[in-house]
Amino acid sequence: MRVVRTIADLRALLRPLRKEGKRIGFVPTMGFLHEGHASLVRQSAARCDDTVVSIFVNPTQFGPSEDLANYPRDLERDQNLCLEAGATVIFLPEIGEIYPTGFQTHVEPGRLADPLCGRYRPGHFRGVTTVVAKLFSIVQPDLAFFGQKDFQQTVVIRRMARDLNLPVDVVVVPTVREADGLALSSRNAYLDEDARRRALCLHKGLLAASAAFAAGEREAVRLLEIARGAMVGVDSIQYLELVDTQNLEAIQGKVDRSSVICVAAYVGSTRLIDNVMLVPPH
Ligand code: AMP
Repeated sequence: MRVVRTIADLRALLRPLRKEGKRIGFVPTMGFLHEGHASLVRQSAARCDDTVVSIFVNPTQFGPSEDLANYPRDLERDQNLCLEAGATVIFLPEIGEIYPTGFQTHVEPGRLADPLCGRYRPGHFRGVTTVVAKLFSIVQPDLAFFGQKDFQQTVVIRRMARDLNLPVDVVVVPTVREADGLALSSRNAYLDEDARRRALCLHKGLLAASAAFAAGEREAVRLLEIARGAMVGVDSIQYLELVDTQNLEAIQGKVDRSSVICVAAYVGSTRLIDNVMLVPPH
């Protein structure tokens, strides 16, 4: 496994591989990796000849009052995890490598970036689409792997790849959870024992709604009530919505198409997100 820090070195490394017809997989991350990231890397390693993992805490997707400065880091552990999961290249750029002086061109997402997290994190998805478009252009992967945990992100990025005709297949990988159901997240590192225990109610609420849906409940309002009813352990729910998986518009009335319940909540000062898909039988 090679660790490269500059775009020039990465391109020099990948050029001959591409010439040989190797299939290149790409997993963009912000580091402090866990089994969720490892699952993306494993999928890529299984489907591609080479897997590039980028580790870059992207400043443009953080708001001014968010946790950019404190975002957890552990490069040595990240490298071991990547190696163990089958990555062949780690791309580890400095901020100035991605955003050199004079940088001023952004990728502006459309309506899909407005609801859910977009409503509470203005500019977040513009930061995400901009850095992911740049990383796609730098790595030029055949396949790129993203986690279902960040559901809106997968929808926004798929749309961007289509809209900009980027020659990459976006693959979405299921959320990896702790044994008790808590979705793995780098931000779980902020949780103390009590907060960690309380955070679990998010998954419990989503499971309760999903079970009600499987048992035949179709009223969106009722499904959301069931979810909210179990989410009593968190300090505040920022949003809890049932939306169409394609256009992310809130579903009113009966759930008659593929949809997803998305939640963002605070446990102490830690913001956590999770979601569950609801797919009606045909
Ligand atoms: P991040 O480092 O948080 O930017 O995440 C990098 C990638 O890992 C994104 O595509 C995330 O959706 C994905 N990811 C984060 N947590 C999980 C998880 N628990 N299961 C699967 N993928 C995840």
